[in-house]
Amino acid sequence: MSDNSKEGIAKVPRSGRLSGVKGMNDIISPDSARWEWFEDKVRHLMALHAYRNIRTPIVEPTALFVRGLGEVTDIVEKEMYSFEDRLNGEHLTLRPEGTAGVVRAVVEHNLLYEGGKRLYYMGPMFRHERPQRGRYRQFHQVGAEVLGHAGPEVDAELILLALALFDSLDLRDIRLELNSLGQLEERRAHRAALVTHFEQHISVLDDDARRRLHTNPLRILDTKNPAMQAVVESAPQLIEFLGPQSLGHFNALRSILDANGVNYRINPRLVRGMDYYNLTVFEFTTDRLGAQGTVCGGGRYDTLIEQLGGKPAPAVGWGLGIERLLELLKEQGTEPVLPVPDVYAVIAETGMLAQAMALLQTLRRLGVRVHMHAGTSDGMGSLKSQFKKADASGARFALVFAQQEMAQGAVAIKSLRDGIGEQHQVMICDVATWAQRLQSRDISESPNGI
Ligand code: ATP
Ligand code: MG
Repeated sequence: MSDNSKEGIAKVPRSGRLSGVKGMNDIISPDSARWEWFEDKVRHLMALHAYRNIRTPIVEPTALFVRGLGEVTDIVEKEMYSFEDRLNGEHLTLRPEGTAGVVRAVVEHNLLYEGGKRLYYMGPMFRHERPQRGRYRQFHQVGAEVLGHAGPEVDAELILLALALFDSLDLRDIRLELNSLGQLEERRAHRAALVTHFEQHISVLDDDARRRLHTNPLRILDTKNPAMQAVVESAPQLIEFLGPQSLGHFNALRSILDANGVNYRINPRLVRGMDYYNLTVFEFTTDRLGAQGTVCGGGRYDTLIEQLGGKPAPAVGWGLGIERLLELLKEQGTEPVLPVPDVYAVIAETGMLAQAMALLQTLRRLGVRVHMHAGTSDGMGSLKSQFKKADASGARFALVFAQQEMAQGAVAIKSLRDGIGEQHQVMICDVATWAQRLQSRDISESPNGI
């Protein structure tokens, strides 16, 4: 390790409470259960659509994003967490999005040699932005990518996949916006017309826009500056520059969506933040999350694979912000059913632990969710306090290991949810049978079912 790195470590505070990094959140219970519930829905849906999971590293070479996303993009210009590896000087970046890494992996492992691939991922992304509601420095995305297929039917499939996910979550108040960015030559012609237009209105452009005028005038259309709305409104639209092939792709996508009853609005100003898009681009937005209203965005990126060193192949995909989606669900009042234990094990004395734990493992093997009471250095605690915890756990039953029952080779099962608190004795050798009936749901709330 170099002297420099030792110095860095020496500056670390040696005492006091440490907090997490600003804009990077801990996800704790019960919220974490919402996340697991959501992730389960995603996995289920991806399997229904035959998408395979891919997991790429969180750290990638900086060049991947500079080359992939484009130098004059918000992400590359100001949002990336980039650093130099202290040991070998490599330029690295915490991934700000998922597509570039997926494409790198697809090229590196030659995944398209036997035809197209449908892939999905879930995981953290990092962008140095001003933290606010729906905008964090570590956030999470689900992404779906279809690589190696050029037709509008896969654009449509991806949109239908996102809609199926929203549907399975009972998500409302979300709109689809659609546009076509055409091909490079069409964008060039449009770009020239845009520059001419904005040059004629140079006095109303802000600093950002003036800077972009000759580097990336398309991004000016994406401005949030209200003073520039009029000049953006009157700018020439890309759709007027699309040739028959691009229009054909767009119209074919629209007719599939129409035939599937999908509502959408064509937004000629939708350009998306990355340079890699062509033809179809789309966003799912909501009015219920303030300025952070885009929940999911995507589009075609037919040149990215080649740009990252692969054999030319078309591709299309979307990325969805999990925090924003979960916030929208909360806003809507949708509460997922959170898992609670089936059984809380009340254990009177530490001497009973060995036998109790063996039985609890048997129950878990049978699929029963078991929460075992854990004591302190003074022992297991009073039965009264244990029952209080059993109640608070939400479990349906307390499985009670107590002196009197244990002496007869039995345990007590007490129902915690019927309001009566009926208690019933079950021989230890019969507990597995009781558990099997619990699993097959033919057991009543009363433990007398056995
Ligand atoms: P925005 O315009 O809101 O900055 P974006 O165009 O930068 O979004 P994308 O790069 O398209 O976003 O990422 C896809 C999705 O990831 C977004 O629609 C959003 O839901 C989510 N997302 C992007 N940046 C953040 C962030 N900093 N915090 C939370 N979610 C984010
Ligand atoms: Mg952004």
